[in-house]
Amino acid sequence: MKVPPTLSTVLGNLFKKPATNPFPESEPVPVPEGFRGKLNYDVEKCVGCRLCVMVCPAGVIEYVPEVRKVTFWLGRCVFCAQCVDVCPVNALWMSDEFLLATTDKYEDNLMWFHGEEIEEFKKKLEEQKKAKESAKKEAPK
Ligand code: SF4
Ligand code: SF4
Repeated sequence: MKVPPTLSTVLGNLFKKPATNPFPESEPVPVPEGFRGKLNYDVEKCVGCRLCVMVCPAGVIEYVPEVRKVTFWLGRCVFCAQCVDVCPVNALWMSDEFLLATTDKYEDNLMWFHGEEIEEFKKKLEEQKKAKESAKKEAPK
C-alpha cells in the first residue's frame, strides 16, 4: 500500500500543542504599537476648528455650534485615523480598545460628547460667562 506523503507531518502534528489562542478563556493577542482601536476625544483640548469633520470619510463627526465642539457616533467609524492626524491640538487619539461588539448601535460606548454631556457643557460655558461678567462689574474703574 502506498503511504500518503503528508502522513508523517499529520502524525507529527498530532503530538504538538495546538497553535491557537482560546479567547475568551485567555487574553486576546496583544495589539502592535500604532494599532488603530476605538477613537478617543478630549473635549477640553478641542478648539472647534472642524478639520476632523471635513476629513472624516464616514460621517462620524458633527459640529455642535452652540458649544464649538464636535460630537461622534463611532458606530460608523472605519478606524482610518485621518481625524487624529489632522487635529491641530491632539484632542483625538486611537486607543488599543477593539472589543466593541454590541447589540445596540446607539449605546453609550459608541457615542462621544452626546446628549447630557453637551447640555452640561452648555451650562458650564454659561456659568463661566456669568462669572466673567460679574468680575468685570466688580473690577475697580
Ligand atoms: S477614524 Fe476615520 S472614520 Fe473614524 S472618526 Fe476618525 S476620520 Fe472618521
Ligand atoms: S480637529 Fe481637533 S480641535 Fe478641531 S474640531 Fe476636531 S477634535 Fe476639535
